[in-house]
Amino acid sequence: MQIRFHCPTDGCVAIVEYEPLEEAGGGIDCPRCKKRIALAYTEAMRDRGIVDQCSVCGSRELFIRKDFPQAIGLAIVVVAGICSVIFYRTNILWAWAALATALLIDLALYLAIGKVTTCYACRAEYRKAGLNPEHEGFDLATSEKF
Ligand SMILES: [Zn+2]
Ligand SMILES: [Zn+2]
Repeated sequence: MQIRFHCPTDGCVAIVEYEPLEEAGGGIDCPRCKKRIALAYTEAMRDRGIVDQCSVCGSRELFIRKDFPQAIGLAIVVVAGICSVIFYRTNILWAWAALATALLIDLALYLAIGKVTTCYACRAEYRKAGLNPEHEGFDLATSEKF
């Protein structure tokens, strides 16, 4: 699986991506501050390929969300909006078709896109991992604990 997290060192703003986490061993070096970051690797991660505990901070509170690229989704809508404004003067059907196409593309993207397990405490993200049935979608009440 792949892990993506913010370097936990104070003052370091690096976003570290590492794959496969299975081979991180005792930890990896931050590419920016060069400090060693310990990455825990649990049995469930090794045997079942699911995340049951955050590798970075050790928290067991994780949630699952869609890995939707919001910038791309928004760009499609903006382009369709511009097209429909242009078409509006010449052919109203084309204007509607442009908007409908954008909606369909966004919907298809949403359905095709994978899920990412995220840590409430440190926002570390785990991709290409199995989904832990104990995890649910984002919960604001849980989030506010951190
Ligand atoms: Zn760092
Ligand atoms: Zn964490």
